[in-house]
Amino acid sequence: MVPGARLVVLGKQGAGKGTQCVRLSHHYVIPHVSTGDMLRAAVKQGTPLGRKAKELMDRGDLLSDGLIMELVTERLGERDVRDRGFVLDGCPRTVTQAELLADILAPSDLDLVIDIEIATGQVLRRLASRRVCVDCGTNYSLSQPPLINWTCDVCGGDVIQREDDKEEAIQRRLELYERQTAPLIEWYRERDLLASVAGTGAPDAVTRRMVRAIEDRRNRKGGRFT
Ligand code: AMP
Repeated sequence: MVPGARLVVLGKQGAGKGTQCVRLSHHYVIPHVSTGDMLRAAVKQGTPLGRKAKELMDRGDLLSDGLIMELVTERLGERDVRDRGFVLDGCPRTVTQAELLADILAPSDLDLVIDIEIATGQVLRRLASRRVCVDCGTNYSLSQPPLINWTCDVCGGDVIQREDDKEEAIQRRLELYERQTAPLIEWYRERDLLASVAGTGAPDAVTRRMVRAIEDRRNRKGGRFT
């Protein structure tokens, strides 16, 4: 059986986190836990959480640490995650969230945190071109659109530009990333949990770098994750 793993993926908006997390989730047969996807689903369903989240998300602001960690605690307590592990996407985004995540996982720990490194100029170009299916979240771009008239190839949903991929929100999200999320890179490096990979080039090349980093870590731990 493919061994499980407990992974966090960090990176600026547009670094390719979502795409790479889906790939790691398939490669290691582990659930992809994306706080952004969970929140977008809540907005779509019009739940109380979704109503609270919508305005903040559209502006590119962060939700409170308490609210996010409540959502994450619940998801990480579910059976599939307890059995196989997870690849966590979009969380933690602040040092407080990282501390709370460590508390949730104690007495064990994450196996690895991977930072996808990419220059700001490059993510700005990617985000401005990004389009996404409103129903299943599949990503497209202006240069790689769906086959037919902005209709999702996977599920037939409408493919649109996310409200928070518009210019003003992008600026805000990148500013918040630098201020609140970038310090996590040092935080995890100090705890010897960090691997950095280059986010440039084709998605396949980035996936290969990430899998290599995970396997290097597994070998360092004697072939087994916690
Ligand atoms: P994402 O798809 O990861 O970029 O998330 C979309 C939006 O959801 C963010 O811009 C935030 O408004 C909210 N969000 C997602 N994850 C978090 C988090 N860990 N902490 C605070 N807000 C979050």
